[in-house]
Amino acid sequence: MPDHVTVSTVEARVARVPLERPTSFATRQVTARDYVLVTVTGDDGVQGRGFCYAGSSGGEVVRAAVTDLLGAVVLGRDPLLVERIWADMYQEALLHGRTGSVMRALSALDIALWDRNARALGLPLHRLLGGYHAESVPAYASGGYYLDGKTPEMLGEELAGYVAEGFGAVKMKVGRLSPAEEEARVAAARAAVGPDVLLMLDANNAWSDLPTALRAVERLAPYDPYWIEEPFSPDDIANHARLAAATRVPVATGEIEAGRWRHKELLDRQGAAVLQTDAAVCGGITEFRRIAATAASYGVPVAPHWFHDLHVHLVAAIPNCTFVEFFPDDAVLNFRRLVDTQLAVRGGRLVLPDTPGLGFAFDTEAVERYTVPGTAAAVGAH
Ligand SMILES: [Mg+2]
Repeated sequence: MPDHVTVSTVEARVARVPLERPTSFATRQVTARDYVLVTVTGDDGVQGRGFCYAGSSGGEVVRAAVTDLLGAVVLGRDPLLVERIWADMYQEALLHGRTGSVMRALSALDIALWDRNARALGLPLHRLLGGYHAESVPAYASGGYYLDGKTPEMLGEELAGYVAEGFGAVKMKVGRLSPAEEEARVAAARAAVGPDVLLMLDANNAWSDLPTALRAVERLAPYDPYWIEEPFSPDDIANHARLAAATRVPVATGEIEAGRWRHKELLDRQGAAVLQTDAAVCGGITEFRRIAATAASYGVPVAPHWFHDLHVHLVAAIPNCTFVEFFPDDAVLNFRRLVDTQLAVRGGRLVLPDTPGLGFAFDTEAVERYTVPGTAAAVGAH
């Protein structure tokens, strides 16, 4: 390997992938998803890919942060100095966010650097990060969304299908309908999966006060939920802590949270029994590792949110990471349509990739098809 590899180009674009059916959770209906796709190339020719989710229409904000704000910090640098590049990107972004779109842009660049470095070394990323699992990792099947015309029985059939595929843990959405309708859904889910399967409930910030949330959660508690996820807005740490103290159902949150400091605050205030930190949101793989290590010292597990292709590597390498959130088809996590290799599932576990880096590349044809016109941009030498 040459002594002085430097980053020669940073490219980014927005891919907008429509959902085949409008799909809902407690607080929103989604019809399309924006993904920002980042490619970092070294002057040795080795490329790394990073990405993040940018909501239904925010892709261009994140793309601009990658190429116009942070790209110059990465260009010309030794890509192995990921900690130093992270610190410099964070400093550059200080006035522009520290969370949200700019932190998602920083995350995508950090992921691309890790992917590039693993590829340059010829190692699967999970091995470069330090292995804990060697062959496969635990996962839960994530689904149970709201669709027009979907009955509780149909929800039960969906979740039972994941159990039949070998998953011992499944997740569904709650918090959109009346308490009675939600109880019917969760009752049907529990009846369909049986008593021994872990059943996670995701409320997607459904509630804004403790009495409403507590009443909803207590009504669902007899169905033995493994956790209640994001009961409140991520900024409402006080209510997360109050709910956690008031119910026996463990509270999980953190998927929209960024930075080690806010995660530590969540832990200090006992607002989460499970952290759901997302490496494409929180500040990349570099920051995710710091957050997970902090959580370990509090005895708190991390079950990362979204992007199973990315988090399979982190769950493989970090002992207190318990599950990958796995999306069994491309209906919800339609990022699947943008990559050229899908993870293998065996007995409800995800098989670790044995190819270099993340173990997949962007599917060039699909990326061209879904790119939002005018969003592709690059900085550096060509
Ligand atoms: Mg969630």
